[in-house]
Amino acid sequence: MTQSFRITLLSGDGIGPEIMAIAVDVMKQVGSQLDLRFEFQEALMGGVAIDETGSPLPEATLKTCQDSDAVLLAAIGGYKWDTLPRHQRPETGLLGLRAGLKLFANLRPATILPQLIDASSLKREVVEGVDIMVVRELTGGIYFGEPKGIFQAETGEKRGVSTMAYTESEIDRIGRVAFETAQKRQGRLCSVDKANVLEVSQLWRDRIIDLAADYPDVELSHLYVDNAAMQLVRWPKQFDTIVTGNLFGDILSDAAAMLTGSIGMLPSASLGADGPGVFEPVHGSAPDIAGQDKANPLAQVLSAAMMLRYGLDQPAAADKIEAAVTQVLDQGYRTGDIMAEGMTAVGCKAMGEAILKALA
Ligand code: NAD
Repeated sequence: MTQSFRITLLSGDGIGPEIMAIAVDVMKQVGSQLDLRFEFQEALMGGVAIDETGSPLPEATLKTCQDSDAVLLAAIGGYKWDTLPRHQRPETGLLGLRAGLKLFANLRPATILPQLIDASSLKREVVEGVDIMVVRELTGGIYFGEPKGIFQAETGEKRGVSTMAYTESEIDRIGRVAFETAQKRQGRLCSVDKANVLEVSQLWRDRIIDLAADYPDVELSHLYVDNAAMQLVRWPKQFDTIVTGNLFGDILSDAAAMLTGSIGMLPSASLGADGPGVFEPVHGSAPDIAGQDKANPLAQVLSAAMMLRYGLDQPAAADKIEAAVTQVLDQGYRTGDIMAEGMTAVGCKAMGEAILKALA
């Protein structure tokens, strides 16, 4: 029986529409091969939404997203909107989308593709075979904890305060996402905290240990964040899935991403409790190359694969797309950002055509 999914497309600004067009073609082709039907609905977000409606996230867009099975976002922003007041900036739309869909889990893979291994700043033998997923808590911790602010201290000087706080339920929900993610991967989960110093981290560790009883097939380990940072660059192959709080995750996910050396290749996912997740490349709208058929569409295509795997539970379709991306890289096709000697330079559209061919 044909399975049907409603997908909201937020193409946004800059290279967004170019790379989104490729991802949509790829999904249509995989859908027809695996008997999956995608109903795509376009909605406005970012600079393009500001120009048409005055708001970076119009209410109609949020409603469309809330009513869909998953949201595929390209990228938003650009020079034109950089000087607007904060509430009208494209990035404000992104925060509104996260809040409106209650997205509390951010999944950032760092996978070394053998064809692009020389793009990494680390030695080949250190990064070869690296395949890490960082699961970061997105809506709690020190970025949101109260009290926060800059206050007048009794001594007369100013005192800045931020509070790192997590409740048991906040830890449990991100913990469960992480255990389930590890189950879909190699079954190893490393929880990162600072439990030797921070009480909030002690609670984090206690809850994660309790949760582990529900996931006997997942092997759980713990690292302090300072050691985790060290291990990531020393021997990253030891990691499968990492789970951590908002602040530590912000830092470690960027460090892990840089192991790969190529930002045009990295997808990400943000998930909520039950509603639709948002899937998007890590890179921005690259206004410097927009409209020139130079963009690398692979992070967008891999975001569509993540959407199929983690948002729509269609691992076979995700596998197919990821295999096609590997194949075009094996064939030597490269956009400008990942170009190397002896490879075939292609633009965004030609890269898309190569993927469709690989899928066929
Ligand atoms: P960027 O990621 O857009 O670009 C950084 C550099 O990488 C540029 O040289 C760009 O050409 C290149 N690049 C990025 N993606 C590429 C791709 N797919 N193919 C080839 N080259 C690629 O970051 P930036 O320049 O700091 O930001 C540009 C705009 O994007 C800003 O307005 C920023 O606010 C916005 N932004 C949006 C998001 C998002 O939508 N989630 C994330 C980051 C930045």
